Amino acid sequence: MGYVPDGPYVLNSGDHANESLELLALNDLGFLEQQLGIRRKKDKGKKEVSEITKHLEWELEILKNVKPTAICPICESRTVRYFMIQTIGEYTRTDENHMCCLGCRDKLLEKAQFENPTLIPLAFPAMKRFYRYNYKKRRLIPGPTIKKIKKIFKKAFGIEKVNRKTMFEWLKKESRPITLSRFSIDLEGIQQVIRY
Ligand SMILES: [Zn+2]
Repeated sequence: MGYVPDGPYVLNSGDHANESLELLALNDLGFLEQQLGIRRKKDKGKKEVSEITKHLEWELEILKNVKPTAICPICESRTVRYFMIQTIGEYTRTDENHMCCLGCRDKLLEKAQFENPTLIPLAFPAMKRFYRYNYKKRRLIPGPTIKKIKKIFKKAFGIEKVNRKTMFEWLKKESRPITLSRFSIDLEGIQQVIRY
C-alpha cells in the first residue's frame, strides 16, 4: 500500500491559509489541482518529494476514484450514481433529492420540470463543471452553484460533518489499493455525462 498521511495537512499561507487540504476537497478542488502542479514543479530535481506533494497526490487520487454510498431515493435499493441539473438561463436548478442510480435515470429525468435536464455523474472530477476559470488566479474557482453541489455531494458520499478531522477520516477510509477493474469503471463514470 502506498503513502497514507497521519493527519490533516493545514496550509500556513496563501489563499487558503489555516485551512486543511482535506476540507478543500469540497470547497475548492481547483485549488488542490493547481497546487499539485506547482508543488511537482518545485520538487523537480530534489532528492525527496515534499510532504505536501505526497499529501495532494494521495488525496486527489482518492477523490478521482471514490464512489457514492447513498441509496437511490427512487428504487430505494441501489446506490446513487447521478444527479440531475436543470438550467434556466444563468440559473442552475438542482437539489439533493434529484439523485438516482444507474437503473433509475429515466425515472429521474421524468421528474424534470424544465426542458433541458442533464444527468451528472456523482464523481468529484465532475464537480469542476461548476467551476469557472479565473485568469488572475490562473485556476478554476467555484462558481455560483457550488453551494448546492456541495450539499448533494455530502449526501451522496455520506459526509455528515465537514471539518478537518471528519474530512481526513473520510478520505483515509477510502484510501485502499485500486484494482484495475475498479479503475476502468471509474473512468467510464467520469467521462459519461449524459445529455437528454
Ligand atoms: Zn434507483
